[in-house]
Formats: sequence, C-alpha cells, structure tokens
Amino acid sequence: MIDLRSDTVTKPTKEMRQAAFEAKVGDDVYGEDPTLLELEGTAAEKLGKEAAMFVPSGTQGNQIAVLTHCQPGQEIILEAESHIFYYEGASISAFAGVQPRTIAGNHGVMDPELVKSAIREDDIHMPETGLICLENTHNRAGGAIVPLDNMKEIYQIARANHVPIHLDGARLFNAAVATGIDVKAYAAQTDTVQFCLSKGLGAPVGSIIAGSNEFIKQARKWRKRLGGGLRQAGIIAAPGLVALNTMIDRLAEDHENARYLADGLQEVGGLSIGNNVDTNIVLVNTEGAGLTSHEFLDKLKQHKILGNSFGPNTIRLTTHFDVTCSEIRTVIEKAGLLTK
Ligand SMILES: *Cc1c(COP(=O)(O)O)cnc(C)c1O
Repeated sequence: MIDLRSDTVTKPTKEMRQAAFEAKVGDDVYGEDPTLLELEGTAAEKLGKEAAMFVPSGTQGNQIAVLTHCQPGQEIILEAESHIFYYEGASISAFAGVQPRTIAGNHGVMDPELVKSAIREDDIHMPETGLICLENTHNRAGGAIVPLDNMKEIYQIARANHVPIHLDGARLFNAAVATGIDVKAYAAQTDTVQFCLSKGLGAPVGSIIAGSNEFIKQARKWRKRLGGGLRQAGIIAAPGLVALNTMIDRLAEDHENARYLADGLQEVGGLSIGNNVDTNIVLVNTEGAGLTSHEFLDKLKQHKILGNSFGPNTIRLTTHFDVTCSEIRTVIEKAGLLTK
C-alpha cells in the first residue's frame, strides 16, 4: 500500500524502537521519568518557552490548553475550518463549556481586523472572549503556512485586549522548515503552543504543549483530570526525543515530494490542485474527472493507494517519510489511468 491518508501513519524508525527499548524510566505522575523530563526540557528549549508537557495526543493537548485558559461561559475565537472546531468532537463545548466564535480565513489565515472586531466588549449580555486559537500549518487549508506577520498582528491585538492566544501547531515544524523561520519565532507570537510528535516527525505517540511555568503547572492538573497522567512514559517519550533530535530537517523531503505530486497530478486531465502546497499536503479536486472524492478514492484503493476525503469532490494526500519519490511517481501514473 502507498498510504497517503496522513503523516500519522508513519511507523517508528529503528532508532526510535531502540531508544524505547533502552529508555530510562520512572513514574511520571511522581515527576520521576528521566526520559520524559528530557523530552519536555528539549521541547521547551526548541520552542523558547519556559516549560513544556508531554500529552498522549494533539487533541488532548489542545483541549488542555482551552481548559487551562478559559472559564465555562466564555467564548473562543478560532478559524472556521480549524482542527479544534472541526475535528475535536465539540470538546471545547463538551468539556471546557465555552462557545466557539468562528472566523472564515483565507487559506487558513484570519484577517486581524476581523479578529479584533470579534473580541467582546465588557457588557452584561455578552460572553467574555477567553481565548484566540491559531493553527499553523493549517490542515484543512492544505498544510497552509500562516505568515509570521499575521501571527504578530493578531498577538498584538490579543495582548492589547488581555486575551491569551493558543497555537495549534500540530505541524508547526513543517512551517518552520518550509520558511526557514525558527519555530521559536512562531512560538513567540503565542502564549501557548501544541505540536505533534506523531505526524511528520514520525514518533509513534504523543504531542507537546508549551507555555509559561504557571500555565504548565495548571495544565498538569488538567491532564491528570483527563486521565492523561502516565507512569513509565519514557518508553513512548524516547522515540519523541529521537524525533525532535533527528527528524525535523528531513521534513523538507516531504515538502519536495508533495510539490512533485501536485505538479504531476496537475497534468492529469480532470484533476486540479486545490491548495498552494506550502508543505506536505496536497488537496486534489476530482470534479473535472466526473468523480466524487469517494469514487476516486475507491479507484485509487484498487491500485493500492490510500488517501482521505476532504469534501464531496476533494481528496487530501499527505506525504511523509514512509513514502518514497518513486512511489509518488506511481501515484501520478495510476491517477492518469484512472481518469481516462
Ligand atoms: C492532527 C491534528 C491535531 C490532533 O492531533 P491528534 O494527535 O491526532 O489528536 C490537532 N490539530 C491539527 C491541526 C492536526 O492536524
């Protein structure tokens, strides 16, 4: 199978398996797992934040951020197709008791003026704005990079209004590698940040959330409440350390492969590319081929190629280190046969 459904399908490398095997461990609920502490320290340093905490998944990391920043009855501002709004089972409402205020972005980028005007005034009728969430790279916008200047503008507005900002940076390292801008520069424009170890970075499990010491202290309590306090977690933290230490720069290869894939598919009659392909995601529109996304995906599957549906006529193909350039060539060839 050539599996382009997501970069979450990557299997841990030999080095990661070895690191897990040899990891020094302790009980992390007692703060005694040396490997996990090293991972959190390394992550905090890379992001330029005071502290960081390991969480089992990106979704849990985002939800802990919302729970820690907000009070029930508040409102949070977020992009209309953001992961937190679109793909997290309404947990901001179910768990944190906040209501979403969505703003439609352009390629995942929110207009700072619209964010500003969405912040609530002090008025007895209205909810308070408890948080602004950003997403970089933006998943549903096809791995789109949110420009640093846009983040800066929104952060200034947020600070002027005493509203915190959380960055869902599940694929933040993809943005950093593609632009050459240090992740620290992005993280400096937000109070807290979540990123995934388990996507393009290739670790089997886990995400990091980072912020101030005070934020992480409260976040640890929320993680425990949610059942995310882990014991000998060094076993899963060790591959995460390998990911952070060795897998960041190679994301550039995934970006090259995505570009190659998009250029190839663009030439296939009936298909068109629906995003700018800034990083490792290609959105393909199948309408011109007279096929729905599911029909096209079924045909691809018969040729042992997997992708995800991202709408009635849109599929998402994601590159990662378990797909080679020659496999990408195969995908382009097969797509050419399918649309004839
Ligand atoms: C994958 C993803 C998440 C959630 O991560 P999980 O580990 O799958 O829970 C959050 N935000 C974005 C933008 C993502 O792409």
